[in-house]
Amino acid sequence: MRGNSRADEERVAPSEGRRAEAIHSLTETSLDVLVVGGGIVGAGIARDASTRGLRAGLAEQHDFAFGTSSRSSRLLHGGVRYLAQGRLGLVRQASVEKKILHYIAPHLAAPLAFVFPTYRHSDWPLWQLRVGIKIYDVLCRGKNFGKSSSLNREAMLQWSPRLNPNQLTGAVRYFDAFTNDARLVLDTLRSAANNRAIVLNYLRFQDARREGGWWICELEDMLTGQSHVVRARAVVNATGPWADGLPHSRVHLRLTKGIHLLIERSRLPLSDAVVLPAQNRILFAIPWGERVILGTTDTDYKGQIEAARPEPEDIAYLLQVANHLFSEALLSPADIISAWAGVRPLIAHGKSGAPSDISRSHQIRTPEPGWWDVAGGKLTTCRLMAEETVDEIVKWSKDLNELSGKLRPCRTADEPLLPASETDGISGILPPEFNRHLVEHFCANEWAVHLDDVMVRRSGWHYYWRDARQKAEQTAAWMAELLGWSAERRAAESERYARATEGV
Ligand SMILES: Cc1cc2nc3c(=O)[nH]c(=O)nc-3n(C[C@H](O)[C@H](O)[C@H](O)COP(=O)(O)OP(=O)(O)OC[C@H]3O[C@@H](n4cnc5c(N)ncnc54)[C@H](O)[C@@H]3O)c2cc1C
Repeated sequence: MRGNSRADEERVAPSEGRRAEAIHSLTETSLDVLVVGGGIVGAGIARDASTRGLRAGLAEQHDFAFGTSSRSSRLLHGGVRYLAQGRLGLVRQASVEKKILHYIAPHLAAPLAFVFPTYRHSDWPLWQLRVGIKIYDVLCRGKNFGKSSSLNREAMLQWSPRLNPNQLTGAVRYFDAFTNDARLVLDTLRSAANNRAIVLNYLRFQDARREGGWWICELEDMLTGQSHVVRARAVVNATGPWADGLPHSRVHLRLTKGIHLLIERSRLPLSDAVVLPAQNRILFAIPWGERVILGTTDTDYKGQIEAARPEPEDIAYLLQVANHLFSEALLSPADIISAWAGVRPLIAHGKSGAPSDISRSHQIRTPEPGWWDVAGGKLTTCRLMAEETVDEIVKWSKDLNELSGKLRPCRTADEPLLPASETDGISGILPPEFNRHLVEHFCANEWAVHLDDVMVRRSGWHYYWRDARQKAEQTAAWMAELLGWSAERRAAESERYARATEGV
């Protein structure tokens, strides 16, 4: 991962005139709304605003989905865990949203069964879970991806003979969905751009001042070092874990770190995802093609956000929990293909307590006229967060008579994110085929500037393939041809990729 200072970004020429054109449009147009942050929350807001007919712009300081939105567990879920915490409202909200995301983006929402084994004397008794999963199905407006069920001990051991049988009492089976977080961000941005939103990566918001009913925003192009000024009626701070550091922000966050490990599926042959109970927490083993994702941890984090990494103690914890449940697996660090660490932007409610107990609900606030802080939430609730935010902006603008033109109602729950012709073979749960044609597409149509943009977030090849380094070399060669990189630039890109993916 890169450091946070501008000096760390290589000074590179934009891949084509398209970026210059986009910057020109952004600075020449007076926007209805400028969204700061190109994670899932910012992307969702840009999509919602632009589909209603607002003139929307979005600025992301690094690459799109660089932050938490490419480092999650990739679940679209109501959250069985939150049920146990009595957070019924949150579970209902997220359960409805997971179905909406499945409707608008089926290529990025694969229904997935979860088996939750239960043990004597654990914090997760079978009877409680049996009741819980029935409520879970109902909260999904009775239309979950499949009907939940329960298994007795024998049935559970038949289903998975590798499971630790000691004190096993049975299991429940329920449904959620699996996504590809970075692709969800990128496809949401492509949808926004199809609706004329102007979206730019490597463009950092520096500061803003209010002048005659406008926000005059200073932005810095991280590729050239140039400064730009953008006028917007409204500004949305959607900067995730960075949200409390942005000028004008009134957000108070508590950051917690979570890591994931990727191993071969042959080492843990699972047909369904498995919930791994660990005291009052739960972890997951999630099948992903020929791999399994193990996650996650939840520990307070006070370091630099860009520097969050899977540390040896995080890795040891995940392996220990997995080895306890699948005692014959004997997983070790040598099994790890790749790993990632993300920082949760949780709302600090002034209380202490365990990280896992902090609410995952979201908050939308207006500390100054025309300024919105949007924070917290989950990948699963991103569409709803966007709808609620844009509703507020539209109401405020109408009250002030500051809206030009006629606006359409919110359509983000009804309209497909993208037509299938724009996603087939490009975007899905699994990484796409490794080929030059796709690299060309990512550079020409999906704003990829650097090698790690393609390897990590556009394609996911970095995480999935053991020979990712060789694939990165080939990708760098293709990008050099496509973008006219010099030998020095190509070497710098390989170095940047190595640095960005060190330890992940
Ligand atoms: C370990 C882990 C597992 C998770 N698992 C799940 C899950 O399975 N399901 C689920 O629903 N949710 C999950 N979440 C939560 C979910 O990932 C986050 O809620 C969501 O991704 C946050 O999105 P965001 O857009 O708010 O933040 P981010 O994705 O971090 O986006 C914020 C962006 O703002 C940019 N930015 C910051 N400052 C500036 C600036 N000055 N100018 C321009 N841009 C700026 C950053 O570079 C960043 O890209 C998980 C989170 C973690 C950490």
